[in-house]
Amino acid sequence: MRRKLVAGNWKMNGNRESIRTLVEGIKNGLDGVNCDVAVCPPAVYIPKVAGMLDGVPVEVGAQNVCDQDSGAFTGEISGAMLAECGCKYAIVGHSERRSLYGETDELVAARFAAARRNGLVPILCVGETLEERENGTTEAVVARQIDAVIAVEGVAGFDGAVIAYEPVWAIGTGKTATPEMAQEVHAFIRGKIAGLDQAIADKLVIQYGGSMNPGNAADLLAMEDIDGGLIGGASLKADDFLAICKAAS
Ligand code: PEP
Repeated sequence: MRRKLVAGNWKMNGNRESIRTLVEGIKNGLDGVNCDVAVCPPAVYIPKVAGMLDGVPVEVGAQNVCDQDSGAFTGEISGAMLAECGCKYAIVGHSERRSLYGETDELVAARFAAARRNGLVPILCVGETLEERENGTTEAVVARQIDAVIAVEGVAGFDGAVIAYEPVWAIGTGKTATPEMAQEVHAFIRGKIAGLDQAIADKLVIQYGGSMNPGNAADLLAMEDIDGGLIGGASLKADDFLAICKAAS
């Protein structure tokens, strides 16, 4: 039985005061939560949030990680730095990184590898655009994004890692994949990994992301291959985030 993981991606939101309020709200509302929980603050707030969550069963994640380990890479943050500052997870290949900052499948795979070699659990985001869904290429796109990681890390790279299926057309739009649509892609992902290694596939945590909220979480999380959520907008309100965590518990 896989334990569900609900992770909040705060993106570039918040300030010292609002983040303190959000973390306090999450800390104070954990009764009844029985799933793995993580929050991914903007990088500059990671040490502060990690300190506030010391001893609390909520992990911290980064929103990205450099593919290199040190040196002249202005603006980047290494996996070792993130681990030292208290991160357990690192999101890689979020669609905003791919579409707004031109991150290729190859760069995302290198970031995934860097997370792993620095002891972080990578959360690999994959998913199709609306055009790709309408073209019938959803599975081909998701397979290509996963294959780029396999090319670098082998299927063993997914041992203990997390994949977040995030249809791009559902991110921040209020449109959600139906539970059946999401389950179909989640089953495809697990089947693809199972084709290479059944044991890794069986324990692989595959989150759904894309406008998950307290109103739709239970139905999505009831699906066989949906093992949690990567939550954007709804993770900025402690009550909504906690309601999703409870739906996953
Ligand atoms: C995300 O950006 O990972 C995400 C799922 O955002 P939202 O929940 O706002 O759609």
